[in-house]
Amino acid sequence: MERLEKLVRPHLLKLKPYSSARDDFRGNAEVFLDANENSFGSVVDSDLNRYPDPHQMKLKKKLSEINGVAPDNIFIGNGSDEPIELLIRAFCEPGQDRIVVLPPTYGMYAVSAEVNNVGIKSIALTQDLEIDLSRLQSDLTAEDKLIFICSPNNPTGNLIDSDSIIDLLKSFEGIIIVDEAYIDFADQPSYTHRLAEFPNLVVLQTFSKAWGMAAVRLGVAYANSFVIEVLNKIKPPYNIDKYTQEAGCRALDEIDKKDSVVRKIRDERQKLELKLSNNPLVENIFQSEANFLLVKFQNHEAIHKYLKAKGIITRDRSRELYCEDCLRITVGTPEENEQLLKLLNHYS
Ligand SMILES: *Cc1c(COP(=O)(O)O)cnc(C)c1O
Repeated sequence: MERLEKLVRPHLLKLKPYSSARDDFRGNAEVFLDANENSFGSVVDSDLNRYPDPHQMKLKKKLSEINGVAPDNIFIGNGSDEPIELLIRAFCEPGQDRIVVLPPTYGMYAVSAEVNNVGIKSIALTQDLEIDLSRLQSDLTAEDKLIFICSPNNPTGNLIDSDSIIDLLKSFEGIIIVDEAYIDFADQPSYTHRLAEFPNLVVLQTFSKAWGMAAVRLGVAYANSFVIEVLNKIKPPYNIDKYTQEAGCRALDEIDKKDSVVRKIRDERQKLELKLSNNPLVENIFQSEANFLLVKFQNHEAIHKYLKAKGIITRDRSRELYCEDCLRITVGTPEENEQLLKLLNHYS
């Protein structure tokens, strides 16, 4: 993995990570007196006194069985936010290197870069919301270490053309991160199936959307085992608490339930899109493969305010590129969507 090794910030290759008590001794024993835990137990639930598994092996095994990706190719994060931040810290030298973002897109990539004093190169998507390959290929330099591609994209909802992504994976020297937060709602398989072909591919997924578990903060990065090793080296030792690991495992036992909710949300998305498109206030609805619709209104500001006054909160995305006069509306339950449509029909 010489090529990947050259991409990592040099001081991290030499870094000796913190070794926890559970790294030094793995296995079963009668008595654990090695981690300064409280041997008397916890003040609340009796089994909270021990540190959680720093490597989340149960959860990784289950993910592995479901997705066909080996545990060595899986990193579990405190939400997707954590791998986003760790990737930037692993590959980008502050004040020197850059990440590449493709607006309009998810805001966290740029915020994480800024926090770390890492530069941001913005190369807008084309008007039809695809990657501008020729501009990208002529503008990229050796300092551009990471390209973040969000597909389906937030806030627009479209999938990014897969030929362009493959093209970049083949031609770009750095790391390509495909953020698949919304992939369950899309008519396209995950890029996790392409990991073996492309050592520079990182796929991000999350439990926050299709799994309905935004509260527990559980994100997943799939990548080449060298990249995963680097992320493990720099993560906080116990980044995923016990409750969250257990919740993740329980969720993965209910994959049918997740699939059935995803079908419902896709159905509702279709209904909502059809009904909104018949509303005279609506000027355009972006084709969505996610669990939201980006909707262009005649007067988005007034509509946003009106809905808010009636108790329905939508997201004003009008300041994003190509999103003038647009509100982003998450697909709700049938009742919530009816309520929204009824209010829009009565708007005057
Ligand atoms: C919601 C979302 C995430 C998920 O973030 P978490 O930190 O896992 O909750 C990641 N990427 C995009 C583009 C999102 O919209």
